[in-house]
Amino acid sequence: MTDFSRTSRETDLASLTEAFIRDVVIPYETDPRIDHHGPNDDLRVELQDKAKAAGLLAPHLPREWGGYGLSHAEQATVFRAAGYSMLGPLAMNIAAPDEGNMHMLHKVASAEQKARFLKPMTTGEKRSAFFMTEPDDGSGSDPAMLKTTAVQDGNHWVINGRKWLITGALGAGVGIIMARTGETATIFLVDLPHEGIGVERVLDTIDRTMPGGHSVITLDAVRVPADQILGEFGKGFDYAQVRLAPARLTHCMRWWGAARRAHDIAVAYACKRQAFGKLLIDHEGVGFMLADNEMDLHQSMLVIDHAAWVLDRGERGTAESSLAKVVCSEAYFRIADRCVQVLGGMGVTADTQVQQIFRDLRAFRIYDGPSEVHRWSMAKRIKRAALPR
Ligand SMILES: Cc1cc2nc3c(=O)[nH]c(=O)nc-3n(C[C@H](O)[C@H](O)[C@H](O)COP(=O)(O)OP(=O)(O)OC[C@H]3O[C@@H](n4cnc5c(N)ncnc54)[C@H](O)[C@@H]3O)c2cc1C
Repeated sequence: MTDFSRTSRETDLASLTEAFIRDVVIPYETDPRIDHHGPNDDLRVELQDKAKAAGLLAPHLPREWGGYGLSHAEQATVFRAAGYSMLGPLAMNIAAPDEGNMHMLHKVASAEQKARFLKPMTTGEKRSAFFMTEPDDGSGSDPAMLKTTAVQDGNHWVINGRKWLITGALGAGVGIIMARTGETATIFLVDLPHEGIGVERVLDTIDRTMPGGHSVITLDAVRVPADQILGEFGKGFDYAQVRLAPARLTHCMRWWGAARRAHDIAVAYACKRQAFGKLLIDHEGVGFMLADNEMDLHQSMLVIDHAAWVLDRGERGTAESSLAKVVCSEAYFRIADRCVQVLGGMGVTADTQVQQIFRDLRAFRIYDGPSEVHRWSMAKRIKRAALPR
């Protein structure tokens, strides 16, 4: 039986987070340090200092890393509260890609690697970037198409290739690079900036919540000592899965908060604005859109909580997090779309957060596996169950 009760630590932390987001973070949403690639590092550091003072910096981490050691279920409640402002996860150092990267390093890195690369990420001193996707005929939905190579040269590896859509690469202090090593793939940790790693350009994308935006990267004879191989040689694809299953679920948690925010803004508008002699909410067409939002929010919360429960039982949760990712990313986009509609012309302006939430949520149906790829994986599981050998 899935247990829907919340721990007191969880509800206390969620209340603290709600107050922090409302009173401290939301006033920053119009800060000029947010440009069309995202908030800059000056703003990030200022927000993270405030989260630290409130006892809310990286609350999910184990106690030895300065957090509260939250379970996945507890994380779900706190991350949903943090996501109510699109700056909330960044302020609390639980935003992508750092949160997923920290998780992977915590699970896989050696003690020395943790001290050198993970520690400054947990304190917010450094941001990180995960270099996996490639342009043209390289790795994307199909990671096996990986073209970037790492070739051994004495006690070093030399990496060559191109990556793109790399979130936060500009300004990051830690790079996590996936490269082909013969028949296998291996992940390498590097300090950034690095003389062999160049930012060709920052892409002009639809979203703007992640510092540094998303970049095209050149890897030109990047020399990496062998002790900077993450975990074991040849385990790159396995480690990517260690990162992805929980990371796609934490995306669902954070974006739930944003969808809730858009819905609350739409409800407030519909309860204030009149048309044809009555409030918008009293028009069935509008009321039904808000009702559909409530159902999408509730169903999304349930699939998140179920997947978190599975992870808390020590299972890999690959199927559950994959299902949750499709359900949530599609539900949130419907919610944001309805909110734009309820707000009318105001919905497409930047006068409320709804426009930006709508834009950012579109990309969620693509990263961490497009919906079609998750459906394809589910169909394969369905077939295996229906046609056992
Ligand atoms: C905002 C954003 C941030 C990102 N950040 C990072 C990052 O930090 N690091 C990183 O390495 N990558 C990052 N990515 C890249 C992301 O992981 C890829 O975009 C994603 O894996 C899809 O790969 P692709 O873009 O190459 O699409 P493609 O592989 O070219 O696929 C295109 C489309 O084909 C369809 N398709 C593919 N396979 C199937 C299938 N089996 N069945 C049915 N349809 C299919 C899907 O509709 C898919 O959307 C980011 C992407 C975005 C949008």
